[in-house]
Amino acid sequence: MINEMRYSGVNMLDIFKREALKERKYIVATLGKLVAIPTLSNPGLNYKKCVDLLEKECKKIGLKTKLFKVTEKKFIDQLPEANRKYPRYILLASLDTGAKKTLHFNGHYDVVPASSGFTADPFKLRIIGDKLMGRGAADMKHGIVAMLTAVKILKKLKIKPGWNLEFSFVPDEEIGGECGSGYICAKKLSKADAVIEGDGGGGNQLTVAHRGIVNFEVTVIGKPAHASSHNEGVNAFLKAVKIVTVLEALRKKIEKRKSKYYVTKPLSGVATMMIGGVAGGGTKSNAVPDKFTFTVDRRVIPEESMKKAEREITYLINKIAKKDGTFKVKIVSKGMTHSSIAEDAPLCRYLGAILKKYFGREPKMLMTGGRVDSAYFSKVLKVPTVAFGVEGKNYHADDEFTTTGDIVNTTAIYAELMRKLF
Ligand SMILES: [Zn+2]
Repeated sequence: MINEMRYSGVNMLDIFKREALKERKYIVATLGKLVAIPTLSNPGLNYKKCVDLLEKECKKIGLKTKLFKVTEKKFIDQLPEANRKYPRYILLASLDTGAKKTLHFNGHYDVVPASSGFTADPFKLRIIGDKLMGRGAADMKHGIVAMLTAVKILKKLKIKPGWNLEFSFVPDEEIGGECGSGYICAKKLSKADAVIEGDGGGGNQLTVAHRGIVNFEVTVIGKPAHASSHNEGVNAFLKAVKIVTVLEALRKKIEKRKSKYYVTKPLSGVATMMIGGVAGGGTKSNAVPDKFTFTVDRRVIPEESMKKAEREITYLINKIAKKDGTFKVKIVSKGMTHSSIAEDAPLCRYLGAILKKYFGREPKMLMTGGRVDSAYFSKVLKVPTVAFGVEGKNYHADDEFTTTGDIVNTTAIYAELMRKLF
């Protein structure tokens, strides 16, 4: 009440932006410290070092913390085998204000490997004017920095947030998130009433949907024979080609399915299928290959059923194998669901109004082409979730970067989100 009176008639976003600009040093230093820890999700490097740093930073700004080490087999077993001996850590941080509701911010601290074309050390933050370059600078350690800076500003201004605040800093988003956001939601470790997924791009747009993925690994099993008498064998490669030809015809049908959501790239808004990301088989050039394996990557739009998308492909492949009768096929599939929220949901309207006020024009509500952790919060924890983070460029590519200006913008918007309950 006192706070509201003290600041009545003032555009809080202007104040938050001004304060965020004053935190430039903190922003750059904190991002620098985070980028300097190569938290590669494959196999899971330096995770403890990173959560220790984050825990220290959280405590400095008055957040309570709780560190979780994921040890349950059920979760660990979902990791690729080579990753399982590397421990996975989740840091939860919170601020109990005695409010009626809790707003949760989620950010992943893992990164993809540094690509070879970086012009300088990818794990040393490069500052070029306003640009902040390094692996993880844009995906998405910058978002974590914006969250921390927003709390720091509210504390400095002695503004009590209208929500209880919760933060989760998680590993493994880049490899599926089962031991990160997946764990939090399955174990119901959060009391969230609404979730801001910090991994959704920033600027004047909010990400209201993302597609799901079904990954298939198809192994065709034929019969070996010497090349000189190949008719005595069953060529698994040629049988795989037969399957792929039919799947390619199906792809054209699948890719006619358009989502209603706005996208920045045309293909991000349709159901897609890509065959052969990984493919191989056979042992010798003079032997009929008795095994051939290929993968299929199927992106599922929110309007589609994940189960149906999986079955459509499995059914077709099995049908071909049955009709042919000379070979067997083994299909392993793994699905990660899509996520979406109505554009007129209170959370979207609320964040949308803040963006409009900040940028001076209607924000775009979009569907992202990639997968983010939102689905765990919206589908498992069943809480309204929208993705909004900090702008950045060259995600997963050379010279990944964000700018101080972009972190400042999101910091101000996060602070305003924290300030007032909708
Ligand atoms: Zn990310």
